[in-house]
Amino acid sequence: MDFDQIDMRNLLEKVKHENSLDLLGIADVRGSREGFLELPKDVREIFPLAIVIAVRVSRSVLNTLEDGPNLLYYHHYRQLNFQLDRAASRMAQEIERKGYAALPIPASQIVNWATMKGHLPHKDVAYLAGLGWRGRNNLLITEEWGAQVRLATVLTNLPLDTGYPLGVDCGSCRRCLAVCPAGAIKEEPGAFDHTACYQQLKEFSKTRQIGQYVCGLCVKACQGLAGNREGSITGSVR
Ligand code: SF4
Ligand code: SF4
Repeated sequence: MDFDQIDMRNLLEKVKHENSLDLLGIADVRGSREGFLELPKDVREIFPLAIVIAVRVSRSVLNTLEDGPNLLYYHHYRQLNFQLDRAASRMAQEIERKGYAALPIPASQIVNWATMKGHLPHKDVAYLAGLGWRGRNNLLITEEWGAQVRLATVLTNLPLDTGYPLGVDCGSCRRCLAVCPAGAIKEEPGAFDHTACYQQLKEFSKTRQIGQYVCGLCVKACQGLAGNREGSITGSVR
């Protein structure tokens, strides 16, 4: 790492600290940029790296969930998104001031309602950066806090060392399967039923007077390796 890298790494850590972020990872996204939505090809190709940031979801708020989302959870969810978006914007400003390119991608902004996808899959970036793995509930699962994190990303051409995927999976844990009211969570992460989940979120948004597509049940159930003590580590871990 040369002086500039150390300087920039310190700057990212400073933004992380100032914005009370819990995790920060860096991914090489050159091999997966075609998965980015709503970004013109020439814009996409400016950015070889992605900085992914995460904040924890409050355990106390999750404990208020019984059989679906509530207004407390929805409010908290929005506050975490604001926190992440603010941190991502601040990080992008600092990077641009250093003469590099940076594009903050919002924590939660759907750009394609048919597929429920945003500009970029934060969880895939977090996976590439080594922050966690793809769980049976189709979310990013961290070792420390399971699915109880929210994510945002800053695309950049800042020259930085990157992380790499962990050799970890859900192992024998099945906790989230039993709590999903839609039966969307399957044995294999790849078999996750997006349509069933989407229909359930739609119903919750109407029947719980929330007006947004949130749920929280499989997030509450998933506490990662620390909470479940059943996951398996099958490869190298940073
Ligand atoms: S968000 Fe709710 S409906 Fe969707 S998979 Fe999780 S528990 Fe099931
Ligand atoms: S609850 Fe268990 S099976 Fe479900 S995503 Fe989390 S670690 Fe994986």
